[in-house]
Amino acid sequence: MNSLEKFPEKFITDLKTIINPRDFITDEEQINPRLTDWVGYADGKSSLMLTPRNTQEVSSILKLCNNYKIPIVPQGGNTGSVAGAIPNGEIILNMTKMNSIREINPKDYTVTVDAGCILEKVHELAIKSNRFFPLSIGSQGTCTIGGNISTNAGGISVLKYGNMRDLVLGLEVVLPNGEIWNGLRRLRKDNTGYALKHIFMGAEGTLGIITGACLRLFPEIREKTTAFASLRDLDSCIELLELLRSEAGDSLSSYELIPGIGLGIAITYGDKIIEPLSKRYEWNVIIEFSGTKNDGDTKLNLENALNKAIENGIILDATIANSLKQAASIWKIRKAIVEYQPRLGGEIKHDVAVPISNVPEFIKEANDAVRKVIPHIRPVAYGHIGDGNVHYNVCPPLQYDNIKFKEKTEEIHKVVYDVAFKFGGSFAAEHGVGVVKKNEMIRYKSDTEINLMRLIKLSIDQNQIMNPGKLFDN
Ligand SMILES: Cc1cc2nc3c(=O)[nH]c(=O)nc-3n(C[C@H](O)[C@H](O)[C@H](O)COP(=O)(O)OP(=O)(O)OC[C@H]3O[C@@H](n4cnc5c(N)ncnc54)[C@H](O)[C@@H]3O)c2cc1C
Repeated sequence: MNSLEKFPEKFITDLKTIINPRDFITDEEQINPRLTDWVGYADGKSSLMLTPRNTQEVSSILKLCNNYKIPIVPQGGNTGSVAGAIPNGEIILNMTKMNSIREINPKDYTVTVDAGCILEKVHELAIKSNRFFPLSIGSQGTCTIGGNISTNAGGISVLKYGNMRDLVLGLEVVLPNGEIWNGLRRLRKDNTGYALKHIFMGAEGTLGIITGACLRLFPEIREKTTAFASLRDLDSCIELLELLRSEAGDSLSSYELIPGIGLGIAITYGDKIIEPLSKRYEWNVIIEFSGTKNDGDTKLNLENALNKAIENGIILDATIANSLKQAASIWKIRKAIVEYQPRLGGEIKHDVAVPISNVPEFIKEANDAVRKVIPHIRPVAYGHIGDGNVHYNVCPPLQYDNIKFKEKTEEIHKVVYDVAFKFGGSFAAEHGVGVVKKNEMIRYKSDTEINLMRLIKLSIDQNQIMNPGKLFDN
């Protein structure tokens, strides 16, 4: 059991009148799993976790914390990649018990949910109403809608449907002083002054607690076709993307880069992953077409497009999945790269975005840059290149000393982000800034941008109780 001595006695007494005893958690066994992140960036500390069950409770907690100037860290599923939900002594406000569906409205193509709702639950609910919610990320069985909104999550469907920001119509937010802003509108059009919802999206819990959200739904997807294709070379990934778009327009729903080294990782360490083509090539892509009719069109269109790409010399070989099992087996390659890449002796990760047409040049220049820092370093560049997002990770050369490799982290980060910056890119495409990329905020954002952010923060959170030390130092 943790000690609460650091908090004023009256604060704790008042807190206990707001929240049910079972949601006032000091038990280390329950808190400890909430103190580390899956990437291994942070080991946090906290002696108290609160798990509110409704918006009113969140409001009362924030009002009290604000009065006593006691900081809190909002937390959803704790699947974030930049340690944004990890406390450094603050109270954890864990939202996972606020997990109800408030309303589904198939006619309006909307669903309104509590912020602690698990993403997968929203997928399942949408399907039951013959609708579709497109945000698709590897952590969807654990991450929450509040976390997805606060990180503006991306994933494999952004090129067709946009980021989480594009999927939110309205928000309910509890401000640091406890005031509740009900912006839960179901409107597609609402030009009534500043778009306040956007300030809280991607804010990583530094401005308020998102307690509810109204999300956009889409027509049900009745047909999907997945293919694995080997590219002539890295440049041809852009030629192929152009061809697929001109052949199939909006039915292209995913376009993921898979390097030969990544495929090797998946085959060597993944669970029964089958080599998709008869030969292994240096650059490959996973392509998915999807449609709302069950008429075989997605397969026909993808076959035609790939035939054209072979005729034009853009791709060298391709396979189209003939069953859901085969499609799942292709997607397993993508997931296995994320999971097993550290087996190559460690990894230094980057979540970079550049304009789509610059992806090949970015990868080539970043490869040159990291090889200048560590000759024979092994880049594993993969990911959502259909929207310009490259997970540009690097593994050490064979038999390289692990400590020496880790010591180079900052230098490697700098050369990679410098190349992205040169192309007008971003050092944080979809994972956010959290604690991990605060230095890059200062290095790559203009003073004007940082000062505006600080002004917004100070005007909403005067006592700086919301997720201190995240995004930038207070
Ligand atoms: C295997 C795996 C694959 C992943 N793939 C992707 C991917 O493809 N694309 C992608 O974008 N991300 C991906 N991620 C990262 C992660 O899943 C997302 O960032 C996700 O959106 C985080 O949701 P969460 O509920 O776990 O949030 P948490 O990790 O709990 O929190 C993330 C941030 O949001 C804040 N926050 C959480 N809830 C609230 C709230 N209700 N109100 C205010 N602030 C809040 C926290 O303070 C923190 O700053 C992946 C992670 C894993 C483990």
